[in-house]
Amino acid sequence: MCPRCNSLQTYFHHIAGKYFTLYFIPLFKTKDLGEYIECQTCFMTYKPEVLKWGRKRTQANEKFKEIVGEVRENLEAGVPLQLALQGLIDNGLDEENSTQLLIKATNNNIAKCSQCGLAYIGSLVYCQQCGNKLQSV
Ligand SMILES: [Zn+2]
Ligand SMILES: [Zn+2]
Repeated sequence: MCPRCNSLQTYFHHIAGKYFTLYFIPLFKTKDLGEYIECQTCFMTYKPEVLKWGRKRTQANEKFKEIVGEVRENLEAGVPLQLALQGLIDNGLDEENSTQLLIKATNNNIAKCSQCGLAYIGSLVYCQQCGNKLQSV
């Protein structure tokens, strides 16, 4: 995961070392002269830790997708967006991330009840609260 390209890229893993030589035959590495990772797309170089960071990021992305899927199921079952948002905040997510998550889960396809003001995922036709026909936003 290249932080600069913000996507998965091929890396070149460079390890430099000085070898103790006997009659010009390398015997063992005496000193690390530097280890770095180079993105083969933007040629930015990083410390080896970037490999770990990428793995963590991928795991976080997987987790995010999983939550988005769960939230979408709830929304399709008729949970209003306001309630889903509150639920996410109650579970420890901040408001900005919760909003982003809801936008992802609804694909930005939102329907609103003009009577009580509740919002739903766009695939719903009637307000679960008052039975009013929803209008897409
Ligand atoms: Zn890159
Ligand atoms: Zn309503």
